[in-house]
Amino acid sequence: MNLLIMGLPGAGKGTQSEFIVKNYNVNHISTGDMFRAAMKNETEMGKLAQSFIDKGELVPDEVTNGIVKERLAQDDIKEAGFLLDGYPRTIEQAHALDTMLVELGLKLNAVINIEVNPDILVNRLSGRYICRNCGATYHKIYNPTKVEGTCDVCGEHEFYQRPDDQPATVKNRLDVNIKESAPIIEHYTTLGLVKNVGGEQDIDKVSQDVKAILD
Ligand code: ADP
Ligand code: AMP
Repeated sequence: MNLLIMGLPGAGKGTQSEFIVKNYNVNHISTGDMFRAAMKNETEMGKLAQSFIDKGELVPDEVTNGIVKERLAQDDIKEAGFLLDGYPRTIEQAHALDTMLVELGLKLNAVINIEVNPDILVNRLSGRYICRNCGATYHKIYNPTKVEGTCDVCGEHEFYQRPDDQPATVKNRLDVNIKESAPIIEHYTTLGLVKNVGGEQDIDKVSQDVKAILD
């Protein structure tokens, strides 16, 4: 199964990706995670990405398209499929992805679009925290760990908050993503691939709706 998951920052893409990967065994490809790994390793690409991410701007298309193309060409993608999370984020990236898929002989099955009112997203992002060991995502109020200070998934105890989840950066991230996402949704609607999901419901209810689509 080859899928895209779309939605504004904080809509719940990462949270639902965890659910999809666990239940459908596809390869999760998050461009945001790839950039954060490159930043942590202080590679040239990581340093370049950081200069954009810190300001809440998008990393240039050539760079982003390049890392996605390299990842999609790996053998496990043909075997188990993929779930692209946070890509495409511009219409140019959507067109680049169309070309890549043709070149690689891959076909998209669905685009899951998580819909939320932007007004609630600052709250979602400022309460987000992530397990440093396994990357599982939590929220201080809406989705805390079952045992305080212990990751439900891996049992480790160290968590972090993303610097770009600070309100000052979030505003620009939301503005940029709202502007860029409309033509992308339109593009995939024309192709008959978009499946809308109400992202303001409880996390489990959103997962049930996602499951109904994928089953
Ligand atoms: P994205 O990957 O789209 O940026 P995340 O999955 O990281 O979003 O979710 C952003 C924050 O909101 C996290 O703290 C997450 O725990 C929380 N969250 C995700 N889905 C919901 C939901 N349906 N209701 C309330 N909080 C949610
Ligand atoms: P995310 O983890 O998806 O919220 O992404 C974090 C940041 O990485 C974004 O705010 C962008 O700066 C950058 N980024 C992630 N995916 C893309 C993309 N497809 N195109 C451009 N920049 C991206």
